[in-house]
Amino acid sequence: MATTSSDLPVVLTIAGSDSGGGAGIQADLKTFQEHDVFGTSVIVALTAQNTLGVHGVHEVPADFVTAQLDAVASDMDVRATKTGMLATSELVHTVVKGIRRHGLTNVVVDPVAASKHGDALLAPEALATVRDVLLPVATIVTPNLGEVALLTGVEVTGTDDLDKAAEAMKALGPQWVLIKGGHLPDNLEAVDLLFDGERMIEIATARSASTDTHGTGCTLSSAIAANLAKGMDVPSAAQVAKDYITGAITHGLRIGAGIGPVDHGW
Ligand code: PLP
Repeated sequence: MATTSSDLPVVLTIAGSDSGGGAGIQADLKTFQEHDVFGTSVIVALTAQNTLGVHGVHEVPADFVTAQLDAVASDMDVRATKTGMLATSELVHTVVKGIRRHGLTNVVVDPVAASKHGDALLAPEALATVRDVLLPVATIVTPNLGEVALLTGVEVTGTDDLDKAAEAMKALGPQWVLIKGGHLPDNLEAVDLLFDGERMIEIATARSASTDTHGTGCTLSSAIAANLAKGMDVPSAAQVAKDYITGAITHGLRIGAGIGPVDHGW
């Protein structure tokens, strides 16, 4: 049967813009396009950024974040939403109010704290707001190990600690947790752990040697949101998204002089 435009699932990203095109809103929209879903966006902050780092951040006023969110959610049937860089405590509160006001479901939270270069993308005082206000509305949260440490105090040094991290993150209120173990050293595999309070599901892929990894977190969480919008359950959405990000990293692009972007369209 031919697909009509009204069959296209609408997906929303609420995140920061990356002028370099590898992460943030730009990565999210490219990922949505590759997944045959219709991407919409609420831009929370602009970054002046390239493959060498973040050179400036300009936050969007909270009332204009609300205006964007209300415009999209009042008109379109948003099937899944992902959040990325939210910059400040005030903006986290604003976004969560919007998610609640519109009853948005399939909420994928990438608790972005810093860029790959270590540039701050979340004010330190906003961490508590992410933990206390945003995580309880998450269908799934997708922290890397640095974000786990910041949010829970749990330090993961090996694959054996991933379950401790999953339990600590789950206690903060999301329905599902996906701990990304890809930053663990000396592993032949990149092992992630998915947990809903009962099921611990290991998702492992061969580790890619590419160092062009800018946008990995954004791309993975967007792929999960796209898969949820198409009707997959959370374990399937995460597994299929992991295969997609593994390919995108393996085909990492040598663009720019620094950390190149993953290839969304591999
Ligand atoms: N969001 C924005 C706007 C960013 O600029 C970045 C990284 O620079 C991120 C999110 C996180 O990027 P990554 O997916 O590489 O963790």
